[in-house]
Amino acid sequence: MLTCLRLPDATGWLPAKVLSSPNLARRSWLSKSLALAFLLHPFWLAVGGGLYLHAEPSGIADHPASPGQVVAQSFFNVAVVADVQYADKPAVGNRAYAASQSKFQEAVIAFNQQELVFGLDLGDLIDGNREKSATDLQTIMAVGNQLKVPWRHVIGNHCLGEMARSDVLKAHGMTNAYYSFDYEGWRFVVLDGMDVSHWSEPDSFEARLSVEYERKGPPFYLFNGAVGPRQMAWLRDTLQSASRRGLPVIVCCHLPTLAAASNPGLLLWNHPQVLRIIENSKCVRAYFAGHDHPGGYAFQRGIHHVTFPGMVESPANAYAILKVYKNRIEILGAGQIPSRNLTWP
Ligand SMILES: [Zn+2]
Repeated sequence: MLTCLRLPDATGWLPAKVLSSPNLARRSWLSKSLALAFLLHPFWLAVGGGLYLHAEPSGIADHPASPGQVVAQSFFNVAVVADVQYADKPAVGNRAYAASQSKFQEAVIAFNQQELVFGLDLGDLIDGNREKSATDLQTIMAVGNQLKVPWRHVIGNHCLGEMARSDVLKAHGMTNAYYSFDYEGWRFVVLDGMDVSHWSEPDSFEARLSVEYERKGPPFYLFNGAVGPRQMAWLRDTLQSASRRGLPVIVCCHLPTLAAASNPGLLLWNHPQVLRIIENSKCVRAYFAGHDHPGGYAFQRGIHHVTFPGMVESPANAYAILKVYKNRIEILGAGQIPSRNLTWP
């Protein structure tokens, strides 16, 4: 299901100030210089270089070549953010909650320079701010809505910390917190890592299961959660059908599942079981997560585990574009997110 969060009109921010200035000529020169500096940023040179070299619009299928012809490899672009964690409240330590609004806006402006197919929010769009949480969500979604393509949302612990699960899903236009969709020969599987957690559906089987985990104490911390049995069965089926159809899979979940790619205290409660399913499926190529703000990376049994650094704790911002090819993925990172080339032997 596409979750469309666009506003009818995404214009009207930067130019107005410049045009209303009395020093129009000077401001115009300044804005051109800033625009040039922006476009010459290594991130966009890399993105633009990729687009230029391959010279094809994103999302198109491979086509046969005549002998001697250089085949341009097709790809599609996906915008990625993790742990924006916006809140209209003072910073705590390195977590600059309010600053995420301008950082997210900077990311969206940069994303809109590219041809994208969708944006991927890896969870924790808000931090949770008591009775102000719903307003915070509206504020940050108004920024996200300026993206020219729809967002696919992953639900994180902070999304649910101070808001009812049903309200968060409704705000995102989602009917379920876990889902899958196919795009250009790839399957994306979005997991709900908070399925069994302190914020499970009230009075559900998952909520009762969560109480059992919580009673055990560390390392079953309250800010983590598990993929429940019903979601596990769905995951198994979804991966089996991808395998039968020969589709490579990217799994997205707010919580990481491999200790080598994350702080071990921030993994899914049932990470060994989830890991076993995705490794045994033989079709999962990458597992993308957030939650651990410094980020991490590891490659194990054919799967690239990428934990994307969180925007809220990245003074120089943190966002990325994935260039998804048929047999590799380039991560073009900005700010704290390192660029990587994910390939498979
Ligand atoms: Zn989190």
